[in-house]
Amino acid sequence: MARLTDRIRRVLQKPGTIDIRPYERMVERVGARAEAVGKLSDDELREAAATLRTGEAFTDNELVELLAVAREAAERAIGERPFDCQLVGALALLQGRVIEMATGEGKTLAGAIAAAGYVLSGRRVQVMAVNDYLANRDAEWMGPLYDVLGVTVSHVGQASTPDERREAYAAEVCYAPVSEVGFDVLRDRLAADAADRVTATPDVALVDEADSVLIDEARVPLVLAGAAAGEEMDDDIVQLVRELRAGVDYEVDPDGRSVALTDAGTDHVEERLGGIDLYEAEHLERLTQVNLALHADALLKRDVDYLVRDGKVHLVNTNRGRIARLQRWPDGLQAAVEAKEALAASESGEVLDSITVQALVSSYKTVCGMTGTAVVVGEALQEFYGVEVAVIPPNKPCVRVDHPDRLYLTVEDKVEALVEHITEVHETGRPILVGTHSVDESEQLSEKLTAAEIEHVVLNAKNDAEEAAIVAEAGVPGTVTVSTQMAGRGTDIRLGGRDQHDRDKAVELDGLYVIGTGRHPSSRLDDQLRGRAGRQGDPGGSVFFASLGDELITRYSVTTGLRPNPDDDGRLHDRKSHAHLEHAQRVADGANVEIHRNTWSYARLTGQQRAILLATREKVLTGDLAATELADRRKERYDELVDAHGEEAVSAVARQIALYHLDSGWTDHLAVLADLREGIHLRSLSGGIVHEKPIDEFNRNAIASFDTLVEDAWTAAAESFDTAQIGPDGLDAEASGVARPTATWTYLVNDNPFGTDADRILGRLRQAIKKTP
Ligand code: ADP
Ligand code: MG
Repeated sequence: MARLTDRIRRVLQKPGTIDIRPYERMVERVGARAEAVGKLSDDELREAAATLRTGEAFTDNELVELLAVAREAAERAIGERPFDCQLVGALALLQGRVIEMATGEGKTLAGAIAAAGYVLSGRRVQVMAVNDYLANRDAEWMGPLYDVLGVTVSHVGQASTPDERREAYAAEVCYAPVSEVGFDVLRDRLAADAADRVTATPDVALVDEADSVLIDEARVPLVLAGAAAGEEMDDDIVQLVRELRAGVDYEVDPDGRSVALTDAGTDHVEERLGGIDLYEAEHLERLTQVNLALHADALLKRDVDYLVRDGKVHLVNTNRGRIARLQRWPDGLQAAVEAKEALAASESGEVLDSITVQALVSSYKTVCGMTGTAVVVGEALQEFYGVEVAVIPPNKPCVRVDHPDRLYLTVEDKVEALVEHITEVHETGRPILVGTHSVDESEQLSEKLTAAEIEHVVLNAKNDAEEAAIVAEAGVPGTVTVSTQMAGRGTDIRLGGRDQHDRDKAVELDGLYVIGTGRHPSSRLDDQLRGRAGRQGDPGGSVFFASLGDELITRYSVTTGLRPNPDDDGRLHDRKSHAHLEHAQRVADGANVEIHRNTWSYARLTGQQRAILLATREKVLTGDLAATELADRRKERYDELVDAHGEEAVSAVARQIALYHLDSGWTDHLAVLADLREGIHLRSLSGGIVHEKPIDEFNRNAIASFDTLVEDAWTAAAESFDTAQIGPDGLDAEASGVARPTATWTYLVNDNPFGTDADRILGRLRQAIKKTP
């Protein structure tokens, strides 16, 4: 009976999560094997692991043996004997779950045991890390464990060469940042030679920080672009846009995502451009430029959305508060920001292909992962990936004290109180970690702390390895660390420093104290920050400061009707104001889920179409489809060329021509899709009569556009085949009009079907390009 109520309690407490008791019972059996396995010599332990390499799904007995062997191996190889909870976590991972395990509980090791288990049972594992530094660190750290278990391991980073990548992806377990995997998949898709491809067939994806990757970044498309003629932004237009006044000449949407000229603004622009009608087809390019410049000027803030360093624009990933390397906006927007900052224009190009993080991850047969905060996104994980969450209780109970929010009327009141609070706590010597929302905010706070003569370090947008080293010392008494949300993520903050030299003192001071400068748009992000304190049963504390002027509230909540009654410090104590804050966060969370769902519904059909196209492309790339098709369509020409150059050379020529047309057909199709979404969006904005749901309309048109793509590509290929110039080195692609882009590069965009104008503007830009001869 007691057991039953316990079970009911658990189920009631965490809806959408699975019962882990069967795993716990299995781990009890693992404990019983400890003595015997402990007696094995190192060689015998390796042998035991080798025996487990069955290449098939494990029976329960084999699972128990696997965990017993892995536990012993971990202790000997990396000096850490996995706790029961880590083995429970590994089991859940092996069953394809996302596990929730608090920060500092040792997910890296639990993940490695699971990865090795997958391999021994015949699978291959791609571990998705959040950045280069962690991919590298974890692969090296866990390397000795994999070695004892006889499993090959590797990692991929931004600096890896194609050959290194190919070798790394072929390992049984490969650690890589999710974006690198995505970019490699994109490049592979467009490979003109099968031997150039580097990635392996997707099998198991084990995702670290699973909620960030699978939910927060899921809708971010990874883009592969190819060089095309450069876009220049007209300086006059940049100047002109600066004259425009917010609220008079243009309006920014309440959510801060889009901006539009008002009638007054349009009149002004038209007059300044010599009395033209901006909305006439012939001025489309100007209109596009004005929109881009306005977007760059009104919506993108220096030091928040991007930084300027070394004469270049670096995007800040607002999700992470760090420089996102290799990222750029869709070309027009990039040029507009460069013009705004009076920088030299960087290269531009066209989108060759893109893939969302969600589509990338979904291409794996099994998806599992680990994070400190999964429960609140349990439903979304189920909806988008079909995975369930297993909550793994901590090894030692968490004793962190989470203090109630300190809410203020205005941002100024908040910041003043924040600095005062930091000063007070710092005087006691307690280590403090302050979590901010942006680089800009960190820097402003840093100035205030300096003025208050508080020594501190600021972490933002530097390199991950450096940040990790600094944040690892955040638990030393007397330290104040100011950090954007994700800086130094994945790094263990030990009390008293990395070597714990000052642990006793830190414990006496009640451990690490985490201060949030504002609540995040999701309670999950708040919890991630809090989770940095109170590691492995350590003492710790957390508090969030907030104000009614915070973006979260001004954006997602209406404060009219609220009669806040601040005390002398501007602090609010009434329940209603606090409830408002919670409400705003729930609205923000809901809005993000909606956007995600929306993006996914748009991406789904595109994904199916891509799969169809890729099937044909694969036959061209690795088979003789191109030669067969073209011989069929141009018999005479084919025979004539074979006589002159031989069958093999002609086959290669046919392949190259066909790939060119299939790929450019796809690029054009993607542009059509962007325009479609744009058009549908504009119509839905202008309140036109709606006959169908936007997604249905999109799908109908997208199907029509794709319908003839492959056939059109063959027709075009046959025409190129007619006039192809073939020299001693094979096809002269340039002269034959089938040259592939000379340079390609990759980036991420924050996409949103009806949302970011970046995407919509990209659509407009394409129209403009198309319409100018
Ligand atoms: P998480 O990813 O869950 O935040 P990590 O994998 O980074 O945690 O591990 C946190 C810390 O715990 C690391 O310093 C690691 O060395 C330590 N650790 C993990 N497992 C064990 C263990 N079984 N015994 C002792 N220390 C461990
Ligand atoms: Mg981790």
